[in-house]
Amino acid sequence: MQIPSLVYANKKGEIFDHPELKMSMRSAEYDFMPYEAELIPLPSCSRLYFMPHTNAVGFDLAKGGFTALDDAHAVSVFLPPAYLRLFLPSYKRISNDIMPLYAYTAVGWLNDSFVVPAIKVDNDSHWHPDLYDYSDKFKVKVEFYLNKYPKNRLYKQLAHCALTYHCTAAKNVFYPRWECPMPTSPACNSRCVGCISLQESECCPSPQVRMDFMPTAEEIAEVACNHAAYAEKPLISFGQGCEGDPVMAADVIAAAVRLIRKDFPKLTINFNSNCSLPDQVAKVLDAGVDSIRVSLNSTIEATYNAYYRPRGYSFANVEASIAAANERGVYVALNLLTMPGITDRKSECDALIDFMSRHKIELIQTRNLNIDAELLYSAIKLAKDELMGLKNMLRTVKKAHKDVKFGYFNRMKDDFFIERGLPDLKVKKFKK
Ligand code: SF4
Ligand code: SF4
Repeated sequence: MQIPSLVYANKKGEIFDHPELKMSMRSAEYDFMPYEAELIPLPSCSRLYFMPHTNAVGFDLAKGGFTALDDAHAVSVFLPPAYLRLFLPSYKRISNDIMPLYAYTAVGWLNDSFVVPAIKVDNDSHWHPDLYDYSDKFKVKVEFYLNKYPKNRLYKQLAHCALTYHCTAAKNVFYPRWECPMPTSPACNSRCVGCISLQESECCPSPQVRMDFMPTAEEIAEVACNHAAYAEKPLISFGQGCEGDPVMAADVIAAAVRLIRKDFPKLTINFNSNCSLPDQVAKVLDAGVDSIRVSLNSTIEATYNAYYRPRGYSFANVEASIAAANERGVYVALNLLTMPGITDRKSECDALIDFMSRHKIELIQTRNLNIDAELLYSAIKLAKDELMGLKNMLRTVKKAHKDVKFGYFNRMKDDFFIERGLPDLKVKKFKK
């Protein structure tokens, strides 16, 4: 078996492959060497970056042990959408500073190429950067809408998301095409340890500033109906991840959905949420959404609570919302926030399989949780358990629930039940 070389960065942030040390990876508190079966060539559109508060750790074949490089930083990768990270980089922490909210992923060097422990879980390519304009020219498209709908605050918010955060979903609104996000809620009743739209002071910086108003049903319907009328393959999604949670805006969303449905009965409308308030979720379901996507990091209540830190609801309420969707025949997806060393524990895998026996789950969207892994491990404080590896865990879930699909993106109704051909759970061999 060929073992990739360690990839590290010098103090200037320049990245090298090490002439002697081998790549190592981490899950929970364990460092280990990669097996080829876990590695794929670095996907295009990935980005390498060094981890400033760390020293790189590699495996010394001569000494037969892991060793840290005093003058070198660990290197990580931003994977593009649709890829599931399987293992973290190995590193030695050299400061107590909390690391930014990124999905840290190991990387090595093999046969003149970078390799990463990851699998592709969705073959939708609408996310690809080549399909988006990041230049100032895009402002022309945005200004067309702002001039035409000067009173609509939702268009102003989406313009900010598209031009300041370069959110690709927000850009779709102005092309117009595909999935249209509907940020609606400035509030949330969870306090996720890794919330990307709001962080308590003294913690990790959050990359987005949460919106500070709730649009009216009429503002929402105006954006949605324009999208339905003019966009290629339109899909409307409430709650795309960096606002509050739309469950807190359920009344206004239900009213908006009713308005949209008058003119566009066939438009796919999706509701992404923590689904923590079953009565509120029922209002949205009854108004006519086609699908809900329920965000969770675990189906074990203690693990869920340690990350979501719910305020005024319990995990049983999340289950009640899913039951309400199942009763109404609404499509249910999970937004499973994954972390190696937590999601792939045997107890987590067993709990997810049981959960899916209680509730009809059609699709599992796997997300790489953006967080400093040690912050998360210390928040959750788990007893020792068998680690299956995420790939093996997905395989086990699929074996128990053969109809479930895996993916990364929300789907139009027509695509609800298709396999997107992935994930590839087979063992891969590298050419020599
Ligand atoms: S549910 Fe979403 S908005 Fe609410 S705290 Fe968690 S990540 Fe943040
Ligand atoms: S709130 Fe976040 S996900 Fe939604 S449109 Fe804005 S930047 Fe994009």
